[in-house]
Amino acid sequence: INTVNLKKIFRTDEIETLALNNVNLNIKKGEFVAIMGPSGCGKSTLLNILGLLDNPSEGEFHFKGTNVAEYKENKRTDLRKGNIGFVFQSFNLIDELNVFENVEMPLVYQGISNKKRKEMVNKVLDRMSMSHRAKHYPQQLSGGQQQRVAIARAVVSNPGLILADEPTGNLDSSNGQEVMELLTELNREGTTIIMVTHSHKDSGYAHRVINLFDGKVVTENVPVEEMAD
Ligand code: ADP
Ligand code: ADP
Repeated sequence: INTVNLKKIFRTDEIETLALNNVNLNIKKGEFVAIMGPSGCGKSTLLNILGLLDNPSEGEFHFKGTNVAEYKENKRTDLRKGNIGFVFQSFNLIDELNVFENVEMPLVYQGISNKKRKEMVNKVLDRMSMSHRAKHYPQQLSGGQQQRVAIARAVVSNPGLILADEPTGNLDSSNGQEVMELLTELNREGTTIIMVTHSHKDSGYAHRVINLFDGKVVTENVPVEEMAD
């Protein structure tokens, strides 16, 4: 991921908000990056753009080598499929679907066959230690279990990139630690992770922290090996 002078301007009636102001980022495949900063500094806006949910107003956004800054909704949707998994603070599971069906959802959208879907969902539920809960509904699970299901859904199609918005924000510390360890494990297997967090404990799992303030990158701690020269 590479951004050049990325800007996002929200216009509502008379009010204009510069939510992102010349953001330049370079995130390599396999990195684990934390984005931090006070409420309203632009974290969600940035994550939405990096996740191809929204377009920047100005600037370039290179995703896997292509400038996608002006991609229309349908092209962004196509590019998201199988490439990006999302994990949210509030889990965002569908209450009317059981665990198996929630995790299966992205595969249905990708047009993957019934048989193959079953195989992929069972494999990921097993990995997240949630197989015994496949028939349960989200409300019957603890917060930690719901987040494990949400992570299962995010990774079921083996995306190269996971975007996590406050993934431990609604969890107690032991469930939070478990989620961070799962993300770390996925990162070790090569998945790029970009995570918004308020927690310094969580950001400790990342290779580096990008601090945003008023829509700008204010500090970026660089990995030790890159500082050497
Ligand atoms: P944002 O608008 O930045 O997404 P939230 O709505 O998630 O913020 O959080 C509301 C308030 O709660 C903010 O002031 C934020 O600093 C605080 N907060 C949220 N999550 C955490 C957390 N995990 N640890 C500490 N403070 C948090
Ligand atoms: P954070 O996630 O760091 O709390 P946001 O990215 O949600 O910050 O918001 C950055 C700024 O952009 C804030 O001033 C917010 O009010 C504004 N903003 C975000 N989304 C919209 C929108 N859809 N319309 C208008 N203003 C928005």
